[in-house]
Amino acid sequence: RASSELKKERTVVSTRDLVVGGGRIAMIAGPCSVESEEQIVSIAKTLRALGATGLRGGAFKPRTSPYSFQGHKEDGLKMLAAARAETGLAIVTEVMAPEHVPMVAEYADVLQIGARNMQNYQLLQAVGDSGKPALLKRGMSATVEEFLLAAEYILDRGNPNVMLCERGIRTFEDHTRFTLPLATVPYLNEKSHLPVVVDPSHGTGKSRLVAPMARAAVAAGADALILEVHDDPEHAMSDGAQSITPATFSQLVEQCRRVAAAV
Ligand code: PEP
Ligand code: MN
Repeated sequence: RASSELKKERTVVSTRDLVVGGGRIAMIAGPCSVESEEQIVSIAKTLRALGATGLRGGAFKPRTSPYSFQGHKEDGLKMLAAARAETGLAIVTEVMAPEHVPMVAEYADVLQIGARNMQNYQLLQAVGDSGKPALLKRGMSATVEEFLLAAEYILDRGNPNVMLCERGIRTFEDHTRFTLPLATVPYLNEKSHLPVVVDPSHGTGKSRLVAPMARAAVAAGADALILEVHDDPEHAMSDGAQSITPATFSQLVEQCRRVAAAV
């Protein structure tokens, strides 16, 4: 169960050097989409050197328009596996369909369930059955209660390795892509023993807002951040406007360590 009343000890999700929960802030970073093997291997090396322990990158992309780049699919997964072989980073990547879970699980260390699929119950169950660590993103119109019940679908299949990811919700506000409600972090920490991850990239949609909201997320008690980082954000195949550069990521890692030590 997700509830902290029913399970007292806090869950720590750990795969390779990625440890989410238990004190130290973990950094999962990488491009929105896996674009090429050269790109993903190169950024993975940079991010590893700067302190990331998880590499994100989409091979299956849930795009708003069917005419936008949909990801390299299994080829993209192979590129991620190449990046892991070079760096040892734990691979975090999205799985969009229940029938793809075995394939994605072959390459990935963490299965990401995207915001648009938070209530795809067959997908949640298939990820539960895989036994792989899961990063469950909050649906953009889901209440926290619905979010926790979605996590329950994975736990109920005997998979305890679930991370809850706040990635922003839809509101009337439009100066940011979504509204990132950071009160979710201490609230979830109280309600649940599951570790909490914050995604300030999708949560704001604007690269200049990512670092301040990342620092705020750490201050609020997040266990990990998931960040979109790109060598050349202007030419990214997806989500360039919210992608930070490795230089910004490097500063952010230091800032987050200082914030974590201060709270
Ligand atoms: C992503 O991580 O690139 C993504 C599509 O996220 P979300 O499901 O939160 O929109
Ligand atoms: Mn993205």
